Amino acid sequence: MARSVLATGGNRGIGKAIALSFVESGDRVAVTYRTGAPPDGFLGVRCDVTDSAQVDLAFERVEEAHGPVEVLVANAGVTRDKLLAVMRDEEFNTVLDTNLAGAFRVARRALHPMMRARGGRIVLLSSVAGMLGSAGQTNYAASKAGLIGFGRSLAREVASRNITVNVVAPGVIDTDMTTALPERRRAEMVAAVPLGRSGSAEEVARVVRFVAGPDAGYVTGAVLPVDGGLGMGH
Ligand code: NDP
Repeated sequence: MARSVLATGGNRGIGKAIALSFVESGDRVAVTYRTGAPPDGFLGVRCDVTDSAQVDLAFERVEEAHGPVEVLVANAGVTRDKLLAVMRDEEFNTVLDTNLAGAFRVARRALHPMMRARGGRIVLLSSVAGMLGSAGQTNYAASKAGLIGFGRSLAREVASRNITVNVVAPGVIDTDMTTALPERRRAEMVAAVPLGRSGSAEEVARVVRFVAGPDAGYVTGAVLPVDGGLGMGH
């Protein structure tokens, strides 16, 4: 059955692949975009997830066009990599405010309609860095580890309403976020991946679609790695 799906940060990278994969399943898909033009192929709503008022407006537009959000994918994320000794407040705060508090804002807004409907799916995009740690990414790893505690607590809060909350933790995935890394650093990261290669945004999208889909009705509070084995042993 076609569902109303909203993915944040769906104008490029992993978020766009997620949106496309729900479109393939026949769902009504909306994405948020913050900069540039709205993407083709799905409803685009402008939204900066660091601003609760913009989050509210974006949900209202999606609700008008597609009905209440039944599947929320909190995907929007940023990096501001720096060694801690020289990290500025702004670099720490921006990453936490976008990656962790951004997910809090959209999940909170999605929740009331899901609770009324007695059903829903929330998927949070974390990272292998949140569990393994990553030098130069204390801010990013803290935000991604935070999402796991946040997601599992929320999963417990809303399980009785048939709402599942799961975390997908990608490893090294080919998007703007990783092509921005120095080539040597990227090669080092890929060399540590047991499967010996980086992953594609589509490989992450398929796992998100699975955990948001009917075959995963008994899965909640889970962390699903999509990392070629990089984080094995978490
Ligand atoms: P990209 O940098 O390619 O895209 C990031 C997306 O997030 C963009 O759509 C961007 O919008 C959006 N975004 C950033 N800040 C905000 C904001 N304040 N409000 C709304 N949207 C915002 O990243 P990826 O596709 O690679 O990553 C997607 C998610 O997956 C992120 O949470 C990331 O941390 C996670 N991840 C990625 C990995 C990788 O290797 N690529 C590995 C592990 C996790 P805009 O275009 O306007 O900037």
